Amino acid sequence: MLRQLKQFYRSVILPDRLFLLRKAKQEKILYLTFDDGPVAGVIEPLLALLDKHQIKATFFVLGSRAAKHPELMSAIHSCGHTIANHSYSHPAFNKISHADKLKQVVQANDIIQQTTGQACRLFRAPQGRWDLRLLLALGRKKITAVHWSRDSMDFLKEPAENIAARFNQQPVQAGDIILFHDDDIRCVEALELLLPLWLKQGYRFDALENNLK
Ligand SMILES: [Zn+2]
Repeated sequence: MLRQLKQFYRSVILPDRLFLLRKAKQEKILYLTFDDGPVAGVIEPLLALLDKHQIKATFFVLGSRAAKHPELMSAIHSCGHTIANHSYSHPAFNKISHADKLKQVVQANDIIQQTTGQACRLFRAPQGRWDLRLLLALGRKKITAVHWSRDSMDFLKEPAENIAARFNQQPVQAGDIILFHDDDIRCVEALELLLPLWLKQGYRFDALENNLK
């Protein structure tokens, strides 16, 4: 009850268009998201794996890496995935000024626009460090702040089996936005174990829309 009440208040104060934590539970859809790429050597097998299962996902790229690898940006884009913004250089957002945060957002969006020809309206702060002033500034720019409802904890750099085991212990739920990091091959290894399982459980996958209503 308390949780429902909290969710209700949060949705009034922070609607999904401003701050997206998870999607509606009505349909059995999962939203895979990948932070910190694109990185050569990881993105190719990851795209191949997603393609094999005909899955669309969302890539929160770093502007600095995207600028170095426009060919990887084209590869993600041409596979039909959504490309989103994860800042230019991944600074600790609790340690830089408000103006610098916005600069990070704009710089990365410019590179995304240059490399894909598409405007980007989704942003995830490094380490999910949000503050209200940032959320409101993003809202004014019609950019949605996207968090996650499930963390793969792949940043711990444990074997893929451990990542999969955690999801088995605490199963995913419809509408979950799941956080992975595609700067390390571990995300591919873990998804090789998890995707067949989730598909067998009847889940479908979708990319987040670049223009949330
Ligand atoms: Zn990150």
